[in-house]
Amino acid sequence: MKKTKIKTTLCKIDKHDMEERMDTIMKLVAEPHYLCGKCARVAKKKTYLCKPVKIKSGIV
Ligand SMILES: [Zn+2]
Repeated sequence: MKKTKIKTTLCKIDKHDMEERMDTIMKLVAEPHYLCGKCARVAKKKTYLCKPVKIKSGIV
């Protein structure tokens, strides 16, 4: 059975969790809405980042 939830932020996730939840993480970063202002990681929800900053739309 696959685990879907990650219990930490993407910033602090360890290698083991990363490998185990690769599919889930891919979904979280595929359509990012937030950027971590500290680690430059991105995620769909700000709860997965330690210092989330909303990604502005219309920049690209
Ligand atoms: Zn971070």
